[in-house]
Amino acid sequence: MASQIREWSGINTFAPATQTKLFELLGKLKQEDVNTLTILVMGKGGVGKSSTVNSIIGERAVSISPFQSEGTRPVMVSRSRAGFTLNVIDTPGLIEGGYINDVALDNIKRFLLNKTIDVLLYVDRLDAYRVDNLDREVVKAITGSFGKGIWNKALVVLTHAQLAPPDGLPYDEFFSKRSEALLKAVRLGAGLKKADVQGSAIPVVLVENSGRCNKNEADEKVLPNGIAWIPHLVQVITDIALNGSKSIFVDKALIEGPNPNDRGKLLIPLILVIQYFFAIKPIERAIRNDIAKESRPSWELRDSDKFSRKF
Ligand code: GDP
Ligand code: MG
Repeated sequence: MASQIREWSGINTFAPATQTKLFELLGKLKQEDVNTLTILVMGKGGVGKSSTVNSIIGERAVSISPFQSEGTRPVMVSRSRAGFTLNVIDTPGLIEGGYINDVALDNIKRFLLNKTIDVLLYVDRLDAYRVDNLDREVVKAITGSFGKGIWNKALVVLTHAQLAPPDGLPYDEFFSKRSEALLKAVRLGAGLKKADVQGSAIPVVLVENSGRCNKNEADEKVLPNGIAWIPHLVQVITDIALNGSKSIFVDKALIEGPNPNDRGKLLIPLILVIQYFFAIKPIERAIRNDIAKESRPSWELRDSDKFSRKF
């Protein structure tokens, strides 16, 4: 209920220049009749999901931990401002002991029942140098839960973005190499073909949640490449919300049914029955008719004669 939703006062903590840009973006959403936005935040444990939620809201709304003990339950933070409601859903990490945490995944799906996901933030760290099978498994679990379509509503967030790349690599080059590697894992894990990703590729956005993030002369938090990252992140979220792809409504069928990408397989028995009655049966009938009509060749009569005589 609207009356219970707290005012999004955290916006006031941002630098004035950042606030101006955020209000512009909220205005753009409202212009397009988008008055509510629900953002789902997912990823492995300890990558900075909760910190990113707090950065967006502008207050310490969810607890963060340097140790991977996040519990197994999602939390939704709702704030409203100028007739606009923002819901951000923080979730527990999807990996435990090197495997997908099925309990956490199940809790997330249940929590999301009857909610609509407008944007997915898939969070990982910029300062990770490897992409492995586990990353693909996390993406696979997300895709298995909400369908491939979720990736049309997704962006990748890379935290810990205030870093000096190793081996003297230029910052932008390091960023693009890390993005490419991660996006490849997303494409493979989600089973996406080029045609599945509508329009352009999944955007990758840099984030620095640390209080020690550098600031520009307008007091906005900036990355080593000079980008004020809070307005940039909200800009990309807005673009995705308005990109024309359908938001993901989480209904019972989606969370309890089979993998949404396999739903078509349920039709296989039906297709077989239809084939039997409308294709195989008529063909059999036609063959039988043909055989009945066929005048038997003389050699066959002769041979069958021999055959019956012998035995
Ligand atoms: P979660 O498990 O994915 O929710 O990760 P948290 O948000 O709890 O963060 C895990 C740890 O990483 C905490 O100690 C955070 O302070 C730290 N952290 C998160 N994001 C950043 C970031 O962008 N930069 C830096 N320097 N530390 C971060
Ligand atoms: Mg967390």
